[in-house]
Amino acid sequence: MAEPPAQEPLVKEIPPKGADLSAWYTAVCIKAELVSYAPVRGCVVLRPYGFGMWENLQRELDMRFKDTGHENAYFPLLIPESLLVREAEHVEGFAPEVAWVTQGGQEKLEERLAIRPTSEVIIGVMYAKWIQSHRDLPVLINQWCNVVRWEKATRPFLRTMEFLWQEGHTAHATAEEARAETEQMLEVYRDFAENVAAIPVYAGRKSASERFPGALETFSIEALMPDGKALQSGTSHDLGQNFSRAYEITFSDADQQLKHVYTTSWGISWRMLGAVIMVHGDDRGLRIPPKLAPLEAVIVPIVKGEERAPLEKARELGKTLRAAGFRVRVDDRDRSPGFKYSDWEMRGVPVRIEIGPRDLEAGSVSLVRRDKQKGEEGSRVPVTFEALSATLREQLTSIQSSLFAQAKTFLQSHTFAPTDRATFLEECKNRAGMVDIPWCSRPQCEAGVKDQTSATTRVMRELQQPGALCVACGEPAVVNAYFAQSY
Ligand SMILES: [Zn+2]
Repeated sequence: MAEPPAQEPLVKEIPPKGADLSAWYTAVCIKAELVSYAPVRGCVVLRPYGFGMWENLQRELDMRFKDTGHENAYFPLLIPESLLVREAEHVEGFAPEVAWVTQGGQEKLEERLAIRPTSEVIIGVMYAKWIQSHRDLPVLINQWCNVVRWEKATRPFLRTMEFLWQEGHTAHATAEEARAETEQMLEVYRDFAENVAAIPVYAGRKSASERFPGALETFSIEALMPDGKALQSGTSHDLGQNFSRAYEITFSDADQQLKHVYTTSWGISWRMLGAVIMVHGDDRGLRIPPKLAPLEAVIVPIVKGEERAPLEKARELGKTLRAAGFRVRVDDRDRSPGFKYSDWEMRGVPVRIEIGPRDLEAGSVSLVRRDKQKGEEGSRVPVTFEALSATLREQLTSIQSSLFAQAKTFLQSHTFAPTDRATFLEECKNRAGMVDIPWCSRPQCEAGVKDQTSATTRVMRELQQPGALCVACGEPAVVNAYFAQSY
């Protein structure tokens, strides 16, 4: 087994995660080469390593969308103003964030064009043309695209003016089908968050004040960040007939009656990558769950002087692993092994494979796991060349579940169920985590809590204890709600 060379002070450029999450977050995003700030205010460039994470997210979600019967399509970026204003609540909700095109070439436009903040409108107009009969239903379409929402602050992945996302838009003959679709996609998001991003979430219904503009009901998944703030990571909306009435999406039903369809929309953006970075990272940098990692393993040959054999063997093993379907790179840069170790640690590659002259003689390599601390049991695993592929697969599976388990422990130890108002307000105010109470669901009660603590309801679920009183105000409770401050 190769001696682990001394670390060069590369990772010291990242401030400790615990001291200042925000400074750590920005430093990691930039230094791990996920993003660069662009010369346009509010925008970032997604660099190849960051795009690699996005591609894996896309592949995993897209597979789940197809499995549930959806197809991909693409709609225009620009929306005429006259179309946008038809659904009043929707346009009011988005008005402060819409960017407008007012001129084309030398010509001032007669009608302003909105750059899509979301695509319910342009898609609704097309559905009105495509849908005639109950035989045309359901329509199950997803779009992968960018949207623009005018933002003042910029934080990579979490808050940018232009961002990447997917938006699903479906149309159904009945309210029940639309609700079932909304719930199905919420479950797809929960499954993706937990089993791919390795982030445990609370899934449920939003309160009226947190609802999507124009929706009947909004459902979301909420993750807890290390600073005790919640991050809404995916939303699924039951739009009822609000959009089909505004955009005249009708069909003749089996009973020959002309009816309005029921629509849904649902989306996950690159914000999810922000959650992955914050939830799993540590003082040494990123820790990317294997299923999202652009590189599952990196092979570092330990080459001294003219000795070329470890490099050649590394290339051969790399080729074998790639052929077996792994995302692997051989790091043959002209840098010391120590530099490479800390570089890949910072970039969060789940497994490092070290191979030196002595390993070569022994016919083995060392696998080093990024999810474990140095010296921790199981952090370094010796493995023969023959067993490499099988062992790597096992280790990646184990890393995926260990990251989820660590995040789950954090969520559980930061979920509170206070029974008195003072403790409840204290926990909300101090960002203790997710604060779960029986709640009256009255908007005035929610607004009062927000005024005093900055916390809002994240998601609601069934009342756990029938007859309970609202911990925030003492009125009869109708649901259980998680309160937290949020991103
Ligand atoms: Zn209340």
